Amino acid sequence: DGFWRLSMLGVPAHKDPGKDFTGVSLPLLEAIAKVLKFPVAAMLPQEAFSVVRKSFDARKVLKEAEFVYTVDMDIKKLLNLEPRTWDFVARLEPKLGVVEYMSTAKQPSDLVSILHDSRQVQDEVVQEDMFETQNKSLNKVLPKRPKIAVIGSGPSGLFASLVLGELGAEVTLIERGQPVEKRGRDIGALVVRRVLQSESNFCFGEGGAGTWSDGKLVTRIGKNSNGVQAVMKTLVQFGAPANILVDGKPHLGTDRLVPLLRNFRQHLKGLGVDIKFSTRLNDLIVENRQVVGVQVSDASHSPDFDNQELLCDGVVLAVGHSARDVYQMLLQHDVELVPKDFAVGLRIEHPQELINRIQYSALATEVCNGRGRVPVADYKVVKYVNGDHDGTTGIGDSFRSCYSFCMCPGGQVVLTSTNPLELCINGMSFSKRASRWANSALVVTVSSNDFDSFRAHGPLAGLEFQREFERRAAVMGGGNFVVPAQTVPDFLDNKLSETPLPPSSYRLGVHASKLHELFPSRITEALQQSIVMFDKELPGFISKDALLHGVETRTSSPVQVSRHADTYESTSLGRLYPIGEGAGYAGGIVSAAVDGMYCGFAVAKTLGLYRGDI
Ligand code: FAD
Repeated sequence: DGFWRLSMLGVPAHKDPGKDFTGVSLPLLEAIAKVLKFPVAAMLPQEAFSVVRKSFDARKVLKEAEFVYTVDMDIKKLLNLEPRTWDFVARLEPKLGVVEYMSTAKQPSDLVSILHDSRQVQDEVVQEDMFETQNKSLNKVLPKRPKIAVIGSGPSGLFASLVLGELGAEVTLIERGQPVEKRGRDIGALVVRRVLQSESNFCFGEGGAGTWSDGKLVTRIGKNSNGVQAVMKTLVQFGAPANILVDGKPHLGTDRLVPLLRNFRQHLKGLGVDIKFSTRLNDLIVENRQVVGVQVSDASHSPDFDNQELLCDGVVLAVGHSARDVYQMLLQHDVELVPKDFAVGLRIEHPQELINRIQYSALATEVCNGRGRVPVADYKVVKYVNGDHDGTTGIGDSFRSCYSFCMCPGGQVVLTSTNPLELCINGMSFSKRASRWANSALVVTVSSNDFDSFRAHGPLAGLEFQREFERRAAVMGGGNFVVPAQTVPDFLDNKLSETPLPPSSYRLGVHASKLHELFPSRITEALQQSIVMFDKELPGFISKDALLHGVETRTSSPVQVSRHADTYESTSLGRLYPIGEGAGYAGGIVSAAVDGMYCGFAVAKTLGLYRGDI
């Protein structure tokens, strides 16, 4: 009944149909035939194989860059279509991670189908209950649908709303920002006319922080886990291309995320989810240490204006880590917030062509601005350096990790401030990744020792630490959202760069600045040491054309909102369910979506709307 999974099947780049092809080509059949020791590759029936993963490997140790495949082989189909393969399959030797026998081909389905099935079962149970109830007492009526307020329409809030809406809760989704159509215009005004809307920008609005992003769907929580697979398949249901299920480094790009979110919205509305845009959560209504509702107001006015109360049976808090006002509000309600490590640094930008050459050598010509056969080159670097040259205590007097983060090939640097006095940046791209630039955060881990001087702010010391460097960056840039910048060689030499600076993708301007003076020396030195080491791995990384931009501070949440592992309920306030990146349980689009999905099931279980396993 089972199937064989064949992994690490290499197809030389020059033979492969290219990055966008996820079917079974003849060169792939040749690689499969080699594993089976089957003499005539062309006789293997393509229909018996399905590609489950495809990635590009251009490591210098290889004679030639290759596409690396994982393929599932359906034994029944194979033997039916080509009985001569019988002996070869019978002799197949299992080898962990290369040739594995899987007893069933059971794949997690997309969330919408799972929920649809479970709802049908649930409906049957409810109908049976109702029948029994009616038999016992004709006057008894079923309890009314529980009301849940989900705050934030980022990936975590959307997936929590989806699950709860499908399972029958009465969901109100409250989002301080605008729907994608209006948000797009607000972002346009920011990029072209320097008008920052404090409630509708790169961080706030439909889809959350990841909408105007690179839309990378890579995650460290295991791409084959059921949760991740269910989320990915659901994204495909809402319009993502099916190759995200196969691609080793799937990404969407802003142009695909926007229509996908529109479809998501329509589906939620169809379920009866009441979506309130431009509506901000200002406060929680608490009785006897239980949340019984929320106070909200029109986000275009101050929190005191026209506050409305909305009573509910639970609040899913999915506000992301830029909603600093929410952390303050939680503290006022004595919600337990625990400081956590995060990372700060700068965003580096190189000409994409240079990164293509570093990674691919001669094959770089095949990239063709994202339209070619091989993917636009990316990189991922990580090093450990001693962080305490100035004698002060940093992260445990020992080693800090320095790493690239949120790398955007063929992308652009964008402004992610939500307040005009603070300046922070990130990166985004479109699906083709066709821009002339490659940008990535280069960050250093920081811990509570680093923000000791902010300890008066209690658990929000890390947040104040972030804010301090965002303010400094705004001043260094000279205002008007101009970003402070320095070439990499000058950053290493602690000297101001001469103007004109190399070109940058950042649309609101760069200003030559002493970025080496922005952070405490222990952080600067850690960055400098690691850049030197990165250059050994990626020769050419230190280039006069490489420009550092300040400042990258919001890599992850500086606090965690404590919650119970099984119910997702806050440990300090009943009926509050903190989720996603802002609560410290996710770090990226997919992990936030997975957290939201599981929280949806957990809340539904608590409310008696779901009886299955989570
Ligand atoms: P968020 O996405 O931050 O959503 C929170 C939502 O809550 C927002 O829409 C906000 O408006 C709303 N909200 C906040 N406060 C309130 C309130 N008081 N009342 C009502 N609503 C409120 N991750 C990746 O995996 N891949 C990438 O390529 C990638 N690129 C990125 C590029 C950029 C420019 C940025 C900023 C982030 C990027 N990230 C990327 C990170 C990713 O976006 C986040 O990890 C993810 O969106 C977190 O999801 P979330 O649901 O927890 O929170």
